[in-house]
Amino acid sequence: MINCELVLVPAFADNYVYLIVNGETCAVVDPGEAGPVRKAISVRHLNVSDILLTHHHSDHIGGCLELAQTFGSAVTGPADPRIPGEFKAVGEGDTVAVGGIEFYVFAVPGHTSTHIAFYSAAEGCLLSGDSLFACGCGRLFEGSPAEMHASLQKLAALPDDTEIYCGHEYTLNNAEFAVSVDPENEDLVERLGVIRQLRAEGQPTIPSTIGEEKATNPFLRCEDAALQAALGLSGADAVDVFAEIRSRKDAW
Ligand code: ZN
Ligand code: FE
Repeated sequence: MINCELVLVPAFADNYVYLIVNGETCAVVDPGEAGPVRKAISVRHLNVSDILLTHHHSDHIGGCLELAQTFGSAVTGPADPRIPGEFKAVGEGDTVAVGGIEFYVFAVPGHTSTHIAFYSAAEGCLLSGDSLFACGCGRLFEGSPAEMHASLQKLAALPDDTEIYCGHEYTLNNAEFAVSVDPENEDLVERLGVIRQLRAEGQPTIPSTIGEEKATNPFLRCEDAALQAALGLSGADAVDVFAEIRSRKDAW
């Protein structure tokens, strides 16, 4: 983030809620629970003008109604009847202005059928929820490998220095898996060392960048010859490579 302050609020065991702070107010992204958000905003004396939701899972929306009722926040999320309460539904190509920042909406189905991501070109940041993770991607609960692969390719096309703020601290597990399928990738091996160090110190691994992910995240590297060879899939279609990596990760 260039102009705004972005605060990571840990929730549950490994979720991240984000506060996009602008003066005395903030936008809250994916408030899975209200308690940690209330604490984080009260020490900073903030109001909640807006709430952004990436998808309907309870670990991302569980605190939304309570916060919206308390602060009168405007809620924006994907068009999905599984999200309770009043909110503005947005989809691919829409823009949302929160705290003076304009976010472009990407539809990124795969983890859920209506999952969206929010991108600010001016701030150079992407709020990816459970679509693109640091060194991984979300499980395919409601989408095919082809859908998720296409969703991630849209995000991979963003500028390399775009910062990625994802929904979970899964990075260490993701990177350990990634090395198991892409062992010759020196950037990845080096990144695993950095991630281990950060986690040993209790530090978050967020944000990463699109450039870092393209170099090390196996789900963005389905056309890489060395990765394909390591999987025994040299010359295979990128979607088939993606499907193989995803099913290995599910069983890992
Ligand atoms: Zn989810
Ligand atoms: Fe989640």
